[in-house]
Amino acid sequence: MNLHSTIATQNLLIDGVRVAPRSDRYFDTLNPATGEVLAHVAEAGPEDIDIAVASARAALDGDWGNMRPADRGYLMLKLADRIREAQDELIELESLDSGKPVSAIRRQDLPAVLDTLTYYAGMADKINGTVVPARPDALTYTVREPIGVVGAIIPWNFPLMIGMWKIAPALACGCTVVLKPAEITPLTALRIGELAIEAGFPIGVLNVVPGFGKVAGQALVDHPDVDKVSFTGSPVVGRQILRSAAGNLKRVTLELGGKSANIIFPDADVDAAVRAAGSGIFFNTGQVCSAGSRILAHEAIYDEVVEKLAARAKSMRVGNPTEASTSMGPLVSEVQMKRVLDYIDIGIKEGASVVAGGERVGDTGYFVAPTVFAGVEHDMRISQEEIFGPVATVIKFRDDDDALRIANGTVYSLAAGVWTADINRVHRFTRKLKAGTVWVNTYGPTDIRLPWGGARDSGFGREHGEAAIDNFTEPKVVWVNTGR
Ligand code: NAD
Repeated sequence: MNLHSTIATQNLLIDGVRVAPRSDRYFDTLNPATGEVLAHVAEAGPEDIDIAVASARAALDGDWGNMRPADRGYLMLKLADRIREAQDELIELESLDSGKPVSAIRRQDLPAVLDTLTYYAGMADKINGTVVPARPDALTYTVREPIGVVGAIIPWNFPLMIGMWKIAPALACGCTVVLKPAEITPLTALRIGELAIEAGFPIGVLNVVPGFGKVAGQALVDHPDVDKVSFTGSPVVGRQILRSAAGNLKRVTLELGGKSANIIFPDADVDAAVRAAGSGIFFNTGQVCSAGSRILAHEAIYDEVVEKLAARAKSMRVGNPTEASTSMGPLVSEVQMKRVLDYIDIGIKEGASVVAGGERVGDTGYFVAPTVFAGVEHDMRISQEEIFGPVATVIKFRDDDDALRIANGTVYSLAAGVWTADINRVHRFTRKLKAGTVWVNTYGPTDIRLPWGGARDSGFGREHGEAAIDNFTEPKVVWVNTGR
């Protein structure tokens, strides 16, 4: 399929139609594997955001708000059908725009999108209130109402999947959505918006407004008629969003960064641990909020872990993401590539040693070799700051207390892994690790049925599972005086 001819110009999706931005401004989205322009994309400005929010509000007050919850669920299932039918196109589009290997999108992202949509479709008519027998002279009960118009702002590392993590629970709860994809990867979000219309969603239920964070994103967060902002991205922007949301005290959920520790003890299956540690940091070119970017290896197996991880890094097939055999694609942009190469320089200057990778691959596209640093100290910048690239730091620890001190010693609390055969240690570590998710003898799996999120600089609130229903509903108490 030659997508280039069909996606050359991408307009906003507002009120059920593709429209040019009021400003008539467009920006380019590039293919990170080649650096070539993929499409000219409409840049939403504050006026466009106003129109999109008004459309979402009208849908909420109209057809969507008056629909039976079960019918909302059926529409979501129809959207899942449309996504399934269009999956080859979506996979190719996501790969071209983000540089993710097609094989990974087919195996992981697309199934997760369908799973998310199906899971929440089933929940649409099960969002129950409770009768609470508070008094003998009244019937008192709660209902859960949609929170209203949701501004969903997403990053570029999993555009399809993170988009659906927000859209699906919001729609199940009866909310309407204005989705702002990351400026680097806007294409699949627009296509999902179109598929929703084809599936029969009333206009205005899902509006998609690509544009820049400081303009379109900011306008959405500032908007007085947006009731809730669901954000995934960097801690810097997360803080800004929190401040801006204070305007009308809108509700906010923040899923931010991480610097997760993956701890390996000598009594573990070291080969399995190193295999998982490799995918834990190199999957999606390391652009994963829960990447196991700090590999903590006990001193007795430190050299073995370094050697085996370096061998894994060197054996990875880095290349064209549209080829089925590719295991690691490029970074998403030139900016991100430079940031990662800068961190590699910083690590070398700090005295850590590169035992695999450490450089750019080729001079076309934004490829960096899977990189392993050994001799990393806990207080180095490469072991404290989120690099968001294929850079593993391997840190030595002496004993359990040392491992916990290092693992918990960053500003983040998103995820952690521990590899051990000692059941007491398992429970001690799952209790003491500061993380929203702790993996034991595995690293990285997530499931839409389980709450996801973190604390401190990793954000607050939980997405996924039933937790997401709380994010998109507002409880209401009804008190009916019955007399005695
Ligand atoms: P980013 O914060 O720069 O951008 C994320 C989104 O926010 C984009 O759509 C952007 O346009 C928008 N944005 C930027 N400035 C804004 C503003 N002032 N107001 C409103 N919106 C604004 O992050 P990024 O570089 O796109 O993504 C990488 C970061 O996201 C990493 O730090 C990573 O850890 C984090 N992340 C976290 C999770 C998670 O689940 N916790 C998942 C993926 C990525």
